[in-house]
Amino acid sequence: MSEIKKVYVNEKNRVTIICPECGNVKVENAEQYKFEKGDRNIDITCEKCNARFTVFIDFRRYYRKSVSLQGIIYNLDEKFSKITVGNLSRSGVGFTIDDVFTVALNEEIDVQFTLDDDDRTFIRKRAFVRYIKDNFIGAEFTELQKFGKELTFYLKYTG
Ligand SMILES: [Zn+2]
Repeated sequence: MSEIKKVYVNEKNRVTIICPECGNVKVENAEQYKFEKGDRNIDITCEKCNARFTVFIDFRRYYRKSVSLQGIIYNLDEKFSKITVGNLSRSGVGFTIDDVFTVALNEEIDVQFTLDDDDRTFIRKRAFVRYIKDNFIGAEFTELQKFGKELTFYLKYTG
């Protein structure tokens, strides 16, 4: 087992992964890794030389807060389900679906939930489904500016 290399997520939410065997450089969207709970050591197989190695992805720039918030998602056909938001960041949200509801990877959804701050701030954002595991969904917000101020304040100062 070789040494685990630490990689950082940049401001465009991307990680640069370099194969220690052949030097092949791969730039990937970090969002797909972000929703894995706990262990952030990610096993990579080099596309070029098939070497297997492990990287540790540091998400500190995009702080993700553990929460428990009630909300609703809509798909573009206006079907909806109750959700429980489990984690939240400026760039995305992870939640469990409480009803029988089917979403597809990369489907666009409308996420609505109420923060547990003093103002009970209502948040409504469009997002793309980027991660599905059973009834747990990770979604990436499309409109970062919308409610950006409210989310930044909440992530920084509440709880
Ligand atoms: Zn390689």
